[in-house]
Amino acid sequence: MRDLKDLVRPNVWNLRPYSSARDEFHGSASVFLDANENPWNAPYNRYPDPSQWKLKDRLAALRGVSRDSIFLGNGSDEAIDLVIRAFCEPGQDGVVAISPSYGMYEVAAEVNNVECRKVSLNARFDLDARRVLEAADEWTKVIFLCSPNNPTGNSLDRGSIYKILKNYEGIVVIDEAYIDFSAYPSFLRELSGFPNLVVLQTLSKAWGAAGIRLGMAFASPEIIAVLNKIKYPYNVNRLTQEKALELLGDEATMRRRVGEILKERDRLARILSRPPFSYRVYPSDANFVLVNVGRAEAIYKELLRRGIVVRNRNSVQECRGCLRVTVGTPRENDRLLDAMRRIRL
Ligand SMILES: *Cc1c(COP(=O)(O)O)cnc(C)c1O
Repeated sequence: MRDLKDLVRPNVWNLRPYSSARDEFHGSASVFLDANENPWNAPYNRYPDPSQWKLKDRLAALRGVSRDSIFLGNGSDEAIDLVIRAFCEPGQDGVVAISPSYGMYEVAAEVNNVECRKVSLNARFDLDARRVLEAADEWTKVIFLCSPNNPTGNSLDRGSIYKILKNYEGIVVIDEAYIDFSAYPSFLRELSGFPNLVVLQTLSKAWGAAGIRLGMAFASPEIIAVLNKIKYPYNVNRLTQEKALELLGDEATMRRRVGEILKERDRLARILSRPPFSYRVYPSDANFVLVNVGRAEAIYKELLRRGIVVRNRNSVQECRGCLRVTVGTPRENDRLLDAMRRIRL
């Protein structure tokens, strides 16, 4: 990896971050007159912990990492944006992302006036490490990978991911939003071996908490310190920190629900791939399936008419004819299958 100092934007490297009242006072006190808070309406009158230590300690124990290698944000979307803002000089630097994949890498890059080069996955939606490495040049600061990938559902070839981690000198982000559904282990265990690795996870999928907006980035303490320097001071609100602590305290419930979802995913995939449907269902390691239904627009509209909304991916070049179907409850999935059986085009 190149020196972190050479990768981070000079203005960010030299930045002295805003220091909040909560940053400057540590220790115990009983009268708080330092932050212009309202004395009434406890506990919501107080600013939340800007470093979210309680939550990070829980996550550190859960994921087997140190607490200073965790960044918490307002969804992983915040982490994606901050990684680009930390490393990419607008109008000069660029990122490389795989295609098809999650749309936010490109959107976040474009908002920041940073070029996003897209490298197509192969016919099996898998990663070609050589092509990704070739797409990166001296101005490329970040490579975005996503595994299991959205919208294709598959986990990317691990050998190819290692090849990129080993041979690329910049930052490699692996978005693991769906890791708790996956049959493969997280790349978190590789953090110590690869100083250029950033792993993204979220409470939005397996933990069932998209509404509270909590995303995580795991990386070396040096990279995490850079992200913390440029985040908004109170980027994770008190309600979210409290609810997240509660959720993370019950891993068993998450595991049980993931198990149910995986059973249903395999049932959906099996039924959709057989007559009368006989659709091509792509192998999924996540909580959704990508299904090539042929006339995707028409079927999408017919489903909508019956009150069922799926994700139409027909406009994504590599996903012509495809719908992305999130796995719901058994009853919801039955309703989908029922509606699909009734569609006559
Ligand atoms: C759903 C999803 C996320 C989650 O983003 P949040 O902002 O944490 O809700 C991140 N990456 C991918 C690939 C996703 O599909």
